[in-house]
Amino acid sequence: MLNYVELLYTLKPKVDPNENFKKFLDYYRKFYIIVSDYLPSFVLGMTDCKGRIWIRRLYGYLKEKVLKHEILHNLFPNASEYEIRRLTDSNFLDLNRFRLIFV
Ligand SMILES: [Zn+2]
Repeated sequence: MLNYVELLYTLKPKVDPNENFKKFLDYYRKFYIIVSDYLPSFVLGMTDCKGRIWIRRLYGYLKEKVLKHEILHNLFPNASEYEIRRLTDSNFLDLNRFRLIFV
């Protein structure tokens, strides 16, 4: 049984978020979050970097962390896993800026 969640996010891809974070958030972007119990073992979340994210049925802090991590992979598809992990642990991405729509 899969649940689909649609996330709306504002983003302007060509603007450097370090230079102008407000402008960076000016454009809309959608993420489809697919909650699944059938991910490979040891995988908490994964993404195609094209707006689709699969996560396990997680709750609280762990869910937020995995979601952030996968969203960051989409925002910075060329960043290394190490860079994405560092960004995940920083306060760079605030999930409160996102609008969750369940579909
Ligand atoms: Zn990763």
